[in-house]
Amino acid sequence: MHSVIYGDARIEFQLSRSLPRRGKKVSIHVHPDGAVQVEAPEETSDREVREAVRKRARWILRQCSVAEHQREHVTPRRYVSGESHFYLGRRHLLKVRVDPDIEAGVKMVHGRLEISCQSENPGVVKDLLKIWYRQRSKEQVQRRLDAYADRLPWLDGPPPWKLVRMEKQWGSCSPKGRISISPHLIKAPRECVDYVVLHELCHLKEHNHSERFYRLLDRLMPDWKLVKEKLDGMAELLLND
Ligand SMILES: [Zn+2]
Repeated sequence: MHSVIYGDARIEFQLSRSLPRRGKKVSIHVHPDGAVQVEAPEETSDREVREAVRKRARWILRQCSVAEHQREHVTPRRYVSGESHFYLGRRHLLKVRVDPDIEAGVKMVHGRLEISCQSENPGVVKDLLKIWYRQRSKEQVQRRLDAYADRLPWLDGPPPWKLVRMEKQWGSCSPKGRISISPHLIKAPRECVDYVVLHELCHLKEHNHSERFYRLLDRLMPDWKLVKEKLDGMAELLLND
């Protein structure tokens, strides 16, 4: 373990060596657990590495505190009354009602997610919520697709799409133009849902992440970078289920 002192802080980091390469010499990455990973080509001296780390110390410390903040807030789900779950960017409290005679289901009542089930079982609550999120996703995403389809001249009506659980993505568009959206996306604020839907729709005109693609996206959603940052910043919270 290497370290660098910056003000009152000590930055400890793992150093790995890479093959010589042109351009940026030292790359720094802060993992979600707060570990700092530095990669530098063989020919970079330890002094140069420490210098590079010191130069980016403020950024590193900020990333570490963001990671710590997120870890504090991400606790395993228990699926019991009083726990909060996200929907369209807001936290909603769960209210679990157990009654052997009621029909199982989920309803949003005065901002609370009311879950009715026949026996006390977090696994059942989890499954009911999952079904509810999928239904809401289908409705909300379809609504956004319909609205964009009216505005975007390269579309003949809303394109087909499906909900697909993805590990690292909110949405994708296959080379054949099949759009997939993650069922977790509906937990994010509306503008984030819009951003992902619009991003995939732009792929129906520009398949790759080319300059033309980003020009199109810039024109249709000028602040998309901020929206994307917001979404990425919430990822750990939203994917926690
Ligand atoms: Zn894309």
